[in-house]
Amino acid sequence: MNIKAVYHDLGISEAVFNYGEKILAGLAERFREIDEVTEINQLKILSAFQNNQVSEAHLNGTTGYGYNDIGRDALERVYADIFHTEDALVRPQITCGTHALAVALMSNLRPGDELLSPVGKPYDTLEKVIGIREAPGSLKEYGITYRQVDLLPDGGFDFPEISKALNQKTKMVTIQRSRGYQTRPSLSIQSIGELISFIKNINPDVICMVDNCYGEFVETIEPTDVGADLCVGSLIKNPGGGLAPLGGYIAGRSEYVEQAAYRLISPGLGKEVGASLDVLRSFYQGLFLAPTVTAAALKGAIFAARIYEKAGFITRPLSHETYHDIIQAIIFEDAEGVIAFCQAIQAAAPVDSHVTPIPAPMPGYECPVIMASGSFISGSSIELSADGPIRPPYAVYFQGGLTFPHVKFGILKTLQNLVDKGIVDKGFRRVSSKEDKNISKLP
Ligand SMILES: *Cc1c(COP(=O)(O)O)cnc(C)c1O
Repeated sequence: MNIKAVYHDLGISEAVFNYGEKILAGLAERFREIDEVTEINQLKILSAFQNNQVSEAHLNGTTGYGYNDIGRDALERVYADIFHTEDALVRPQITCGTHALAVALMSNLRPGDELLSPVGKPYDTLEKVIGIREAPGSLKEYGITYRQVDLLPDGGFDFPEISKALNQKTKMVTIQRSRGYQTRPSLSIQSIGELISFIKNINPDVICMVDNCYGEFVETIEPTDVGADLCVGSLIKNPGGGLAPLGGYIAGRSEYVEQAAYRLISPGLGKEVGASLDVLRSFYQGLFLAPTVTAAALKGAIFAARIYEKAGFITRPLSHETYHDIIQAIIFEDAEGVIAFCQAIQAAAPVDSHVTPIPAPMPGYECPVIMASGSFISGSSIELSADGPIRPPYAVYFQGGLTFPHVKFGILKTLQNLVDKGIVDKGFRRVSSKEDKNISKLP
């Protein structure tokens, strides 16, 4: 069967297909580097399974209280091995990434303590957790204060200001690895290590937590390999490998992980309790697949970046840069491009491809957001997905894809839609050359 005919039947013109092939040919070396990282991570995970003697019996969960859930306990040892930490909490009772982060923060902070973000504003949904925006149950309501030091205009750390912000009350520092819904750069593991060393030099007792969402297995080491006391993430992103139907993890020093377990479950109960029902097999198998799934997503992100850069759009990261997470931001400068991109991603999905996403208010977000996600797991963003907050600079945040052929198709579909809508011309260049003052200020 002729591949061009297959694409044609799915609405991709020969010109768009050929253009994609040309772009891909220029990415061979980048992809080879990603494959090498994937290989290292695959073997790291395999060793953790073998060293902990993961057995058939571990794949079945428990019910009720979940006492003696050997599969749950072994999985937590596997996570601790992969992250090189003393302990880990990996649970279906952790409902999402925000919940995992909230649990890690609320369990380790006490009234009178202060939380510092030395990397600027945290992810939108954390604003209400912290109380940056008023919300019932926030850290602020419990008398926990918050301080923030923004990144420098070039995306670097503002060490003098961080040093000033650290004070007697600072108990915890939160470091977001990924860009989230911002155009600031994602942080490399190396730079996270430098930041943590700087902070620990001033006060070794400060708990350094890293929001690792979207970063897992993009590099060969994790934040806990460079001094992070806690590393937190969602299982419907990278480490769930697309199979975990829910869940989150908190890996780190045992005293901090234990606090998190007391908060998640109950004081006095902690890690001993929490039935895993039928999710363990998917947690194990998803983790095992996570490096190759992450690689597919990463290759897709770079492919998209290269196409849209050549078209004349601003992208973050740039396609030649080293990636530290799987998020690709493409800046369209108006809502029309964001919407056309997201609608094409939806149309490329295996599930719900026939529905049309539109911008709408979302819990936890302060502006309308358009979200494209035709996924097997509801809201899973390790599956091919795109979100765009409808606010300047009108960036689309694109991520995921369980297999590279699928991400490739999704990206070609976006290009086709932008061409069809006249946002990109037949030479694959952007049509509007609208100047937006926000753009020139991007790091
Ligand atoms: C996704 C994400 C979160 C929150 O995760 P949810 O599962 O959506 O609650 C937090 N921080 C970052 C950087 C994220 O990407």
